[in-house]
Amino acid sequence: MTYLDHAATTPMRQSAIDAWVHAAGELNPNGQYAAGRKARSVLDSARESVAELLGCEPIEVIFTASGTEADNIALQGLYAASESRRIILPPSEHSAIRDVANALASQGAEIVDLPVDGAARVCDLSALDTQAAVAACMYANNEIGTIQPIPEIAERAAAAGTPLHVDAVQAVGKLPIHFHELQATTLAASAHKFGGPRGTGLLLAKRTPAPKPVYLGGGQERGIRPGTVDVAGAAGLAAALRESLEEHEQQRVRLAQLRDKLRSFITTHIDDVVVNTVEPALPTHLHVSFLGTDGDSLIMLMDRAGIAVSTGSACAAGVNRFSHVLEAMKADEARARGALRFSLGYSTTEEDIAVVCQQLPDIIATARKVAAL
Ligand code: PLP
Repeated sequence: MTYLDHAATTPMRQSAIDAWVHAAGELNPNGQYAAGRKARSVLDSARESVAELLGCEPIEVIFTASGTEADNIALQGLYAASESRRIILPPSEHSAIRDVANALASQGAEIVDLPVDGAARVCDLSALDTQAAVAACMYANNEIGTIQPIPEIAERAAAAGTPLHVDAVQAVGKLPIHFHELQATTLAASAHKFGGPRGTGLLLAKRTPAPKPVYLGGGQERGIRPGTVDVAGAAGLAAALRESLEEHEQQRVRLAQLRDKLRSFITTHIDDVVVNTVEPALPTHLHVSFLGTDGDSLIMLMDRAGIAVSTGSACAAGVNRFSHVLEAMKADEARARGALRFSLGYSTTEEDIAVVCQQLPDIIATARKVAAL
């Protein structure tokens, strides 16, 4: 299989599998006996590694079961911790943020848009000048790859006294991120996006203001995410994070070259395309609209040719809806309909790109014929 859907999930790194298997037998890290202390020391070292790699203190590291959970805890918890009812976010956020904001709106929250431009990049920060319960902005967009101006957003939010949550699920492991330098209040990440185990996420949370707990229970993870911690998941996450950050510079150059090669093949050999990914963007993303095609049939035709790709947008029962990101970018219907995301990762090879270049012109021609029927 030619796998170009790394933004959805990326294969586990061998270092993460080894760390995960090694810790799989650990018991409850809160046990007050030798086996508990042993599990605790594995968990502590995973926590210390994450803190060192992401520029924060170990106490600010909260292990969760997913990026979605980390986003939920941050947005709901910071909202609940504030007197204000105002939430600021761009319309291009992931559903793990948007759906939470919409649910809070149905309970009385006022949602204020942070407008984005034609590349889904936040372009007007003035909404941040009025204090809010919480502002949220993703570090990099999961569909298009656009990198947001987080330092400027953090500065404006801090000046107004608004806590900022950064959904960095697509960026952690690909870009160097220093939590304290970022000046965010909370940050979400997910292990399976950088070669760790699926079902393990991260929330970095400053001591104050801390999100109010969404779940109640045993008080683990500062009470912010109670529940017995998955020690093996944490160990696998830390190993994957270390390896991805050790090689990120080399991978950034290598993957950007492969991505650019694919982009230039597409724009040279296929008519009527719009490249939606515009710099500054993750080196791993290439989002293209093939006008006159339908994303769903493109995915099926690619799959038949042994190539795994997606549109990158939320998928309900296997049928893609029009992307809310393209809608926020004011893309027309043809551009939204024919959108496809190629996303590269650490295991992507020259050969993968060569296979796509060889198959793509025929697949697009077939998809256009099918769409014209
Ligand atoms: N936020 C962004 C930007 C994502 O891309 C994703 C996953 O695609 C998530 C949150 C959710 O992460 P998880 O799959 O770990 O729940």
